Amino acid sequence: MTTTPAPLPAATILGYPRIGPQRELKKAEEAYWAGRIDRAEFDARVRDLRRATRTRLAELGLRDAAAIPESFSLYDQVLDAALAIGIVPARFAADLGEAPALDADDLFALARGTESQQPLEMTKWFDTNYHYLVPEIGPATDLRLASTQVIDLHRESLEDGAGTRPVLVGPLTLLLLAKAEDGAPEGFDPLDRLDDAVAVYAQILAQLAEAGAPWVQLDEPALAADQRVDADALAALLKQSAGRLAAAADRPQILLTTPYGGIGDLLPAVLATGVEAVHLDLTRGDLPTAAQLAGVGSTQIVAGLVEGRSIWRTELPTAAARLAVLRERVAEAGGDPERVSVGTSVSLQHVPHTVDLEPDLPGDLVATLAFADEKVAEVVRLASGGVTAGDADGPRSVPRTFSGVRRDAVRERAAALTAADLERSAVAEREAAQREALGLPDLPTTTIGSFPQIPAVRRARADLVAGRIDEGEYRHLMEDEIARVIDLQEKLGLDVLVHGEPERNDMVQYFAENLDGFAVTRNGWVQSYGSRCTRPSILFGDVSRPAPITVSWSTYAQSLTSKPVKGMLTGPVTILAWSFVRDDQPLAETANQVALALRDEVADLEAAGIGIIQVDEPALRELLPLRADAHEAYLQWSVDSFRLATAGADDATQIHTHLCYSEFNEVIDAIDALNADVTSIEAARSRGEILEALDPERFARGIGPGVWDIHSPRVPSVEEITEILAAAKERVGSARLWVNPDCGLKTRGYEETEASLANLVEAARAVR
Ligand code: GLN
Ligand code: ZN
Repeated sequence: MTTTPAPLPAATILGYPRIGPQRELKKAEEAYWAGRIDRAEFDARVRDLRRATRTRLAELGLRDAAAIPESFSLYDQVLDAALAIGIVPARFAADLGEAPALDADDLFALARGTESQQPLEMTKWFDTNYHYLVPEIGPATDLRLASTQVIDLHRESLEDGAGTRPVLVGPLTLLLLAKAEDGAPEGFDPLDRLDDAVAVYAQILAQLAEAGAPWVQLDEPALAADQRVDADALAALLKQSAGRLAAAADRPQILLTTPYGGIGDLLPAVLATGVEAVHLDLTRGDLPTAAQLAGVGSTQIVAGLVEGRSIWRTELPTAAARLAVLRERVAEAGGDPERVSVGTSVSLQHVPHTVDLEPDLPGDLVATLAFADEKVAEVVRLASGGVTAGDADGPRSVPRTFSGVRRDAVRERAAALTAADLERSAVAEREAAQREALGLPDLPTTTIGSFPQIPAVRRARADLVAGRIDEGEYRHLMEDEIARVIDLQEKLGLDVLVHGEPERNDMVQYFAENLDGFAVTRNGWVQSYGSRCTRPSILFGDVSRPAPITVSWSTYAQSLTSKPVKGMLTGPVTILAWSFVRDDQPLAETANQVALALRDEVADLEAAGIGIIQVDEPALRELLPLRADAHEAYLQWSVDSFRLATAGADDATQIHTHLCYSEFNEVIDAIDALNADVTSIEAARSRGEILEALDPERFARGIGPGVWDIHSPRVPSVEEITEILAAAKERVGSARLWVNPDCGLKTRGYEETEASLANLVEAARAVR
């Protein structure tokens, strides 16, 4: 480096929401994809969005350019890094533009698929609700500086203002998250390409230096999670990646971040890489010890003290006290306590833009909330030194004490629970009672719950919210829809019917709106992937059910048919996973409160004559902690909460559950322990595996391996469904095999739904 390096500013954040306060990114993308605006207009709109973000962050107090991360992404930060270094699967070769550099259209092609190619696979980003695109790499992938986006954005930030700090997912995390391209030789590991990847990162860094960037941020969150290689190997890989980059002459100073958890004993290896600054997540991770900091030297530390993924205000005195302890330890280790900055634990991409856009939330609650903008302000305040230190062991977030947070009746009920509340009769007794009560054929056919949400249904909901129609009229419209869906299922010849869930905007928000203890935001959008945003509810207080929620819809549906209608609930773990959850008590306690509310709903459904009740837990796998040593405790409380919700059912009431993910091996024992009578699970994309895993000796209950991949509009043929069913029957026997799609049909159209379900029923009949 030629000029005297400037230290990183005292306050910074790791990243900021990129969707825009009014979801500008989504709107621009959808308009562009639909052909309503051209590329020039699209480019102009996203540039305006970036410009507004930089201005906003400066206004909030991140005045120094290097304090502002350039964390914008058109679709996904992992895809950006993959394209930056040329990780483009060979299967896309014919679909990308001619130019040597990849642009936004190429990026969208990989993200969304083309005529001939499926998009890159999407999967969960660590233990968040954000999804990244999985890079596909092989031994022959031509790694090169293929997209100059990160450099272009830096130039843009200088043209528009004072500049920013470029951000890239680091090479180690990128390859740990990548998968081997189809056709790669057996034994190939994406990490085999680390040297080649690092060489391209070095070029990018050189170009960033030339473009005038004083700092670059490389995110290495993989260090915070268990990986396929052990800690010693990770330390060596760090030397081979960040260590090499730090040794290059021509580069900006490097901030290496480690969000999403503690990195424990990897800290010395991180410090040894020679990067100028290291970020630590101090909300999930502990404060490092002086011994772990031994190699700190002149390395600057960014203390991730403001929780970036929750929406609660930071208890600043506690954070200030922890900051002081960290500074002492840095000094003790021979470092400079002045070279400790304040930051967020993770990028703020997981929280909404600002609480200012929430006029409907009660003031008491608002006083405890901090979304992205408010978190930035917290970082700035802490860094300013103006906060009096409290107790380092104090609460991490501002305590919530207003009414509705603690409710005695809820607590007394939870305290009185015993182990017996989680138990049902033996499986054999339940099977006999249910056979008698339900009289279903072998290989019963059913669906997972939702039917396509047609525009008229969405419009009715919008009209109700806007006050254009009243509750009565809304109910009328929904009942018409339910009648239509019941009629269709009878015509198709399905055995267990559903009401179709037209009244639900979302499987979690619907319950949040009908339970006490939750608040619903107006503009609290967060990015799920690409242009897709969700609006998680806020679980702030003790949960209870003021009145039955689903009973009138299910009984209305049941009144229209002699076939059994399956009641439909969302399970406690999924409700927690897809909400912003209070952090002032263990998740297990909160889950039990939700479970008790659901238990009452199960009892009311049963009393109203609903003989089959499904409790969906698609997020059971998703909340699994990043470290294996934390799995057991998690699986214990999550399974218990499901059991608490369902175990009050009579023997004759058939409890179903639905899980939709294909990596169930780690949780197979937990699925068994849920003790549901019937489990439907994703299988269309992972055929053999599920049957392998579901050893009938171990998993001796009803099972419905999904036979139609509802993520695609493709209609499965009778032959292919028959084939899967025949194999499944071989394995689990016809008495326990159910026939169903992979997941709900909400996002599908009626055309493929009718055709696919007709084939499904025909195949089931053939295999019977
Ligand atoms: N019952 C829900 C539905 O059918 C389940 C959705 C899910 O598993 N994600 O939509
Ligand atoms: Zn599902």
